[in-house]
Amino acid sequence: MSFDRIKEKLNILADAAKYDVSCASSGSVRKNKNKGLGDSSGMGICHSYTEDGRCVSLLKILLTNHCIFDCAYCVTRKSNDIKRAAFKVQEVVDITINFYRRNYIEGLFLSSGIFKNPDYTMERLVAVAKKLRLEENFNGYIHLKSIPGASDELMYQAGLYADRLSVNIEIPTVSGLKLLAPDKKQEDFIKPMTKVTNEIKRYKSEKRIIKSTPRYAPAGQSTQMIIGATGESDKDIIYTATYFYKQFNLKRVYYSGYVPVSYDERLPQIGSEVPMLRENRLYQTDWLLRFYGFTAKELLNDQHPNLDVDIDPKLSWALRNLHLFPVNINTAQKEMLVRIPGIGLKSVHKIIEARKHRNLNWEHLKSIGISLNRAKYFIICNSRYFETRDYQPHTLKNKILQHVKSKYEGVYNNQLSLFN
Ligand code: SF4
Repeated sequence: MSFDRIKEKLNILADAAKYDVSCASSGSVRKNKNKGLGDSSGMGICHSYTEDGRCVSLLKILLTNHCIFDCAYCVTRKSNDIKRAAFKVQEVVDITINFYRRNYIEGLFLSSGIFKNPDYTMERLVAVAKKLRLEENFNGYIHLKSIPGASDELMYQAGLYADRLSVNIEIPTVSGLKLLAPDKKQEDFIKPMTKVTNEIKRYKSEKRIIKSTPRYAPAGQSTQMIIGATGESDKDIIYTATYFYKQFNLKRVYYSGYVPVSYDERLPQIGSEVPMLRENRLYQTDWLLRFYGFTAKELLNDQHPNLDVDIDPKLSWALRNLHLFPVNINTAQKEMLVRIPGIGLKSVHKIIEARKHRNLNWEHLKSIGISLNRAKYFIICNSRYFETRDYQPHTLKNKILQHVKSKYEGVYNNQLSLFN
C-alpha cells in the first residue's frame, strides 16, 4: 500500500471521527512555515484523560466509514454520498506504532462504521488492540468504541486489551432513537455495557484476592448522547444520563450538540446553530450531580424541565429555593456550602480550613477568592453589613445578571466557562 493511499485514508477516517466527542478535542491544521519547527495536521490527534488523571494525546480515527446502518444524524450513514475508505487491521497498528515512536501520540482512539454486521466489525477493532498489546508490546492508552450489538465474547476480549470502552447511546430517548436510527435498538448498547460493567466488577473483586489478576478496562466505560437532534427536554437527557451512570457505573457521559450534517425532515435544518450553550449547561448540570451532591430531580423536574439559558444551573436552583438561604458561612455543613452560587468546591475546602482558625468576614471571603457579586445575596458571615435579602427571585436574578459581563453576551451559540 502506497504512502499516499494511507494518507488519503487517514484524511477521510480521521475527519469522520471528529463528530465523536466522547474522546475530547481534535487536532488543528498548522503548516510549517519558513523552515520552522514541526507542523500539525487535521489528522485527528485529540486528548483524553487516563485512569490516573493524566492528559494524553490520542490518534482518533475510524476503522472504516462504510456502514450498513442509516442513522439520520450521522455523516457515515449508508445513504450519504461521501468518499469511503477502510483501514486494514495491520495498517492501524503500523500507523499507531509509527506515530507513537515519533512522539506524536500517547495512544489510540478507534471507532468504526459497521462493515457487515456488528461482530465482524468488533472483531477487527479487538484485533487492532490485541496486536498492539501482544505483538508490539504497546503500553500506550487505547480507547475502543464498541459496536452496538457486539457479542458478549468480543466485549469481554475488548476489555482485556483496551483501557477504556464506550458504546454511544446517541439519542437520549427510545422514541428519538426509533425515529432517527431505526436500525438500532436500545438493547444493542445495553447488552455490551452490561457485559463490561459485570466484567469490571468481577476482575476488581478477583484482584483483591489474587494480586496477579490482569487489569480489565482500567479506565472504565463512557458514552455519548447527541443533543438537539430530537425534541427531548433537558430533563429527559439528564435523567437518562443519571440512569446510565448508576446502572453501568460510567466514568463519563458526553453531551454532543447536534451538528446539522444532512437534509432530512426529521432533523434540524442545515444551517441551524449547533446548541453549544445547551451542551455547556448540560455539562454544568452533570458536574453538579457528580461532585456537588445535587440530585437530578432538584435541578430538573416537571415544573422545570429545561435548563435556563441565561444563568447556570446552580444559581437557577438557588433562586427556586430561596427559603434555604442565607447560609451562615461560619457554621454551615459542607453539603450546604457547595450549594451557594458563586462558591466552588475549592473555595469550600478553603472556607472549611480557614474557619477552624477564625470567624470569616467579607474580607476573608474575598481573599479566599469566592465570587462575592453572586454569593453575597445568599450568605451571612462575621460582618455587620449584609445584603438585603427580601428580593423576589426575578429581581435577584436581574441584580446578579447586571454584574455579569460575559464576553459572550448575546451570543448564545458559544461555549461558556464552567461556573464556580
Ligand atoms: S451505526 Fe454508527 S456509523 Fe453507522 S450510521 Fe449509525 S451512527 Fe453512523
